[in-house]
Amino acid sequence: MAEAAPKTNLLGMSRASLERYFSALGERPFRARQLLQWIYQRGITDFALMTDLSGALRERLTEIAEIRPPEILSEQVSADGTIKWLLTLPGGSAVETVFIPEPERATLCISSQVGCMLNCTFCSTAMQGFSRNLSAAEIIGQVWLADQRTGDRRISNVVFMGMGEPLLNLDQVGPSLDLLRDDLAYGLAARRVTVSTSGVVPGIDALHEFPPIALAVSLHAPDDELRARLVPLNRKYPIAELLAACKRYLKGCGTKQSITFEYTMIDGVNDAPELARRLRRLLADIPSKINLIPFNPFPGTPFRCSTSENMLRFQEILRDGGLIATVRRTRGDDIDAACGQLAGKVLSGNQRRSLVQQQLARQALA
Ligand code: SAH
Repeated sequence: MAEAAPKTNLLGMSRASLERYFSALGERPFRARQLLQWIYQRGITDFALMTDLSGALRERLTEIAEIRPPEILSEQVSADGTIKWLLTLPGGSAVETVFIPEPERATLCISSQVGCMLNCTFCSTAMQGFSRNLSAAEIIGQVWLADQRTGDRRISNVVFMGMGEPLLNLDQVGPSLDLLRDDLAYGLAARRVTVSTSGVVPGIDALHEFPPIALAVSLHAPDDELRARLVPLNRKYPIAELLAACKRYLKGCGTKQSITFEYTMIDGVNDAPELARRLRRLLADIPSKINLIPFNPFPGTPFRCSTSENMLRFQEILRDGGLIATVRRTRGDDIDAACGQLAGKVLSGNQRRSLVQQQLARQALA
């Protein structure tokens, strides 16, 4: 007997590609609208239950297609209510997704790659090396699974701040952005979907092809020399080029948007008052919010978090200059779910990375 052809996973397909899929089947394109609502609004994956599709179409889809999210390997709940899921992927790798409930919103932090290739010296994901890009099904599947498991607490915000660099996987992140914004899928407002980048300039420019979202940029230092030690990608895209791309993005959005600049506070490395003053000058002419992130330690790192005193002084200097600066509250650190602690399991990642990584981090401290 001939082997059955593999089924097409419809999870992660944007409205436009589902329309093309149904047209190719000889079906009316509006079937895409029905399917989106079944999958994302009602959480149904069994075609047999999709009662507004004809019986013949339901049978055909069951034969040739599927709606398959990744599988959950483990779920950990923090004392503060943060939930971290480890998701298994074909081949044995795993990525992490974190749900952060707060009184006024509930944020889901999702991964875009298995590992990361950017080697930021203060990030534990970097130590895992890089294995591969996640597919759109694996990216939006994180939202789908979390939505199933969080009951009454609806996800109000999604941030691409988990493992990986989203702008190095725009082919798959793009359709996920479409679905997060699409009224027939998750219908989130632009300001409720944040893509965080370590500064991939061509990726920022390519974002114009997708629906508007909020952009966060991992800055971490106000000058090229220090930034290159923390974020090696700065050698390719220095600060001036990065900020020029940010301005182009804001201009393209047309609305009154601002960019969030993330700045991880590392003791004795990037937390001196003089650096706050430089940062203030650097961002003076760009609508921005600065998010100061307390450094989260992980095994093997020589870095430590800035003292609260230094963080507050840094924040004050920025505020005195009229900038909006907040200190991000650390969440879920008892289950290693805080920023930069997501490690997952990167099977084909280059293990030697971790030694190189530690050495780079020591150099950055020196
Ligand atoms: N690759 C993307 C998104 C993932 S990281 C990016 O770089 O923006 C999300 C944020 O956490 C980034 O600002 C990152 O620099 C920061 N981060 C990484 N490691 C950290 C750590 N150990 N402590 C605190 N923040 C960290």
